[in-house]
Order: sequence, then C-alpha cells, then structure tokens
Amino acid sequence: MALKIDADLFLFDLDGTVYLGDTPIDGAIDTLKKLTALGKKVCFLTNNSSKDKKEYVKKISSMGYPVDLWQIITSTMATIRYLHTRRPGKSVYPVGTPSFVEELKKSRIPISEDADIFLLAFDTTLTYEKIWKGNILLEKGREFFATHPDIVCPSDIGDMPDVGAMMTMFESSSGRAPSVICGKPYAPMAEIIESLFDIPKERTVMIGDRLYTDILFGVNNGYQSVLVLSGETTHEMYVDSGIHPTMVLPAIASMFDQE
Ligand SMILES: [Mg+2]
Repeated sequence: MALKIDADLFLFDLDGTVYLGDTPIDGAIDTLKKLTALGKKVCFLTNNSSKDKKEYVKKISSMGYPVDLWQIITSTMATIRYLHTRRPGKSVYPVGTPSFVEELKKSRIPISEDADIFLLAFDTTLTYEKIWKGNILLEKGREFFATHPDIVCPSDIGDMPDVGAMMTMFESSSGRAPSVICGKPYAPMAEIIESLFDIPKERTVMIGDRLYTDILFGVNNGYQSVLVLSGETTHEMYVDSGIHPTMVLPAIASMFDQE
C-alpha cells in the first residue's frame, strides 16, 4: 500500500472529507490510522466557529480514530491569533455561540457592545438583537471581521445558513463587507498553522471537499491540495471551477494505492 502524497503534515477538512454528518466516509478512519502509523502529522482544520474543539475530539475519537486536542485547528483559533497579533488591545463585539465567546474571554480579548471591531462567527444562537447591535457598529464605521466565509454548513436535515450568508445580510443592511476573514482560504488560518508546526509549506497538504475554502486555501498559501469528491463537489463542479488542486480523488481512502 503506497501513499500517493509526498508530505509530512496532513490537514484534513471534516464534513464531506472524514465524515458525512455522523457517519464516517468509507475507509476514512483506516486512512487516518495508516498515516499516523507512518509517522505523519494528522490535523483537522475546520472553519466552523460554533463548536468547542472538545466536541470534535469526542466525535472523531468515537468513530475509531483517537484524537488529541492539538490536532484540531479552528477558525476561532486563527481569529484569536489575528486579533492578538494585528489588533492588540482592541475590543470586539462577537456574534457567536456561548462557547465561541468563552474562547475569546479565555484568550483575554476585550469584549464590549460598543467595540472597535464587530466580529461575526457562526452563531447557532443568533437573535435579532445581536444582528441589530452588529449593524449599529457597522453604521458607526467600526471594523468588520468574520471568522470564515462558508455560505452553508451541511447537516443531515438540510443546509444551515453560515457566516457567508450572514455577511450578505449585513452587506444589504449596512453596505459593509468584512475587511478581514480568518478561516480557510485566507492567510490567518495559514499563520496559525505555521505558528504551531515547524513544517515547510511544500511538505504540507490540505485535503478537503470544498473548492472555495479547502482547495483555495492550499492554492493561495503554497500548500499541496487534494480535492475529494466525497462531499459537496462533483467532478463537473470541479471542471467548471477553474481551481487546480494538486490531486483529485474520489475519497481519502484513495490516498493509498490498493495493491
Ligand atoms: Mg467539508
């Protein structure tokens, strides 16, 4: 069984790549185990800023691949690092879940309703009041940041409107778009990886099912990239996209040659 990708750090997207909802994709868990046995670094890179990292540790571990906390990298981490390095001391008004706000507080990010920065995250506890307060800050000319650009988050029942959809709403109500987006495919997500691992870009590969986040992340930041067709992207969508991953595979199990 030969590995088709020559790299040391393997960054996996989750939904549509490792699992679909609560079901692991055929051969995915086995593939992760084989990579780990070969001494490769395996991490999971998610744009979802609504969940606590521990939820991912529990979910992936329960599928049969034991995961440590260091292996989970979220757009929340990229956002916090960006705030500390580029906007030290600036306050934010976060629209996000209680676990997101808690993570900001733990990282000593100042939080205020009359903040310097309106920070939009994936808020599954969204209320009209939060939308209104965010819009007031945008009208006042405060900075506008978003954790990630995904338009929908897949679910078993039906797609959930995600940050990208909320950005369109705020653009309509305030005429403003975020000046900084932290998750895949943008640079702050690459900066957090580079701060955590001492592995060259060309020895790093991003594997995912979404062209405009996962694959562009690889392409824009100098990593290898593998598009898997086990999630939202069909072969036709890939051909029409004009985006060029290093490799296209049906699913992550095909990362190994079956002999
Ligand atoms: Mg995905």
